[in-house]
Amino acid sequence: MIKENNLTVYNSHSGKKEIFVPVLKNHVGMYVCGPTVYSNVHLGNARTFISFDMIYRYLKHLGYKVRYVRNITDAGHLEDDSDDGEDKISKKARLEKLEPMQIVQHYTVDFHDVLRKFNNIPPDIEPTATGHIVEQINIAKKIIENGFAYAINGSIYFDVAKYNETNNYGELSGRNIEDLYSNTRTLEGQNEKKNPQDFALWKKANYTHLQHWDSPWGEGFPGWHLECTAMSTKYLGETFDIHGGGMDLKFPHHECEIAQNKAATGKDPVKYWLHANMLTLNGKRMSKSTGNTLNPDELFTGNTPLLNKGFHPAVARFFMMQAHYRSVLDFSNDALTASEKGYQKLMNGIKAVDNLTSKKESTFDVKAWVGKCYSAMDDDFNTTILISHLFDAVKIINQVADNKASLTKDDLELLSTSIKAFVFDVMGIENISTDNSSSKLEGVVNMLIEMRKDARTNKDWALSDKIRDELKELDIQLKDGKDGTTFTV
Ligand code: AMP
Ligand code: ZN
Repeated sequence: MIKENNLTVYNSHSGKKEIFVPVLKNHVGMYVCGPTVYSNVHLGNARTFISFDMIYRYLKHLGYKVRYVRNITDAGHLEDDSDDGEDKISKKARLEKLEPMQIVQHYTVDFHDVLRKFNNIPPDIEPTATGHIVEQINIAKKIIENGFAYAINGSIYFDVAKYNETNNYGELSGRNIEDLYSNTRTLEGQNEKKNPQDFALWKKANYTHLQHWDSPWGEGFPGWHLECTAMSTKYLGETFDIHGGGMDLKFPHHECEIAQNKAATGKDPVKYWLHANMLTLNGKRMSKSTGNTLNPDELFTGNTPLLNKGFHPAVARFFMMQAHYRSVLDFSNDALTASEKGYQKLMNGIKAVDNLTSKKESTFDVKAWVGKCYSAMDDDFNTTILISHLFDAVKIINQVADNKASLTKDDLELLSTSIKAFVFDVMGIENISTDNSSSKLEGVVNMLIEMRKDARTNKDWALSDKIRDELKELDIQLKDGKDGTTFTV
């Protein structure tokens, strides 16, 4: 059963929230631009892919049959996203004295490892640019045939001015073509392009280019924007539902994708453009080029001056879910520490809910609460509001445990299944305490607590203190209460 027409999404193209109506009833086609695999992914990249994983999960939760396509850019992405720099992968291969495909393999594996740790579900199709050279050449041919691209010295450029006679280049990003002219003309006066804002569909390979293919225009390689047009069209059709990526890809990448699709097929390729916002560090965008980054491993191990300790990927994912995907999120030790507390509170609530005793009457309207949770998610995937409702539920769970509120058996069951569905299935936040290494840790610490208890009974204060202090060194705090000793990690 699909709760159709309740979901609204913010379409970056129209600048409005719109009711989500897929092209094909009950089905969703979603394309998200994947990474350029020339270096390790940083946490900012991870945030974007985690945001779209949550969106994928919610669409599936609603009952849609989703085909999620996320590519791997393994050729054609030039430095500074321009048409002139060196290919990012070729450059890395040259510096490391490796085959480009060794670079691609190494960083693709890293990308998959990181996303697995964050509990992302793999996409349904993960196509590569190098695996779709023929499709890219065919689209370039079609664009030339339709009069929107020209060949020069073995390269093919998209003719933006020509396209703009009958279309609106800038429709997504809001950029004005006249401004683009005046900003770039003087800088690129010697360029072989007719106009500086024209972009490459195909580039002639020079001697530095390690990856190149035969084409009707000679040896070369495809332009970065063309791969996404080729792969989204191939797997999702000429018009599909959702296209996603980080905000920074709106221009030129997504603007050029629209232009290529329209020039090739005459059709608008995407119904809903979704753009995820940036993760910042010290108020500045996390970015490979400026070095203002944190790698996932540094986060997990705490091996960085930015953090007092390591954080589990599930806690980091919860931290990201606390912000709406279209809001900027700033990373800091304090924010992560606060999220860890919140995460623990939520997990404790989930643990407690199944041990509650039901009563004949409910003092809390669980059905209305479930409705509110769906409304939050239906409002452009608002996980921030959803989490505030989840904490309301935790409050009720604690009140029921203290006999300050009551729930019927049915309501208890609905509360239990719903809170778990939203936390585990929709937001993809794992429960660390059920993961194997955590339960082992719990067993070992409990064993030490028992040994400490024995030591105290034997008045061996030195041993008792040693156990407590050494655990503290490992950031494991013991707390003595009237019901015995507990610990926090
Ligand atoms: P790239 O490999 O550079 O093409 O980036 C892969 C994805 O990560 C793209 O969707 C980018 O928009 C996104 N991205 C890059 N930096 C950040 C950041 N600081 N926060 C969130 N997403 C980012
Ligand atoms: Zn793309």
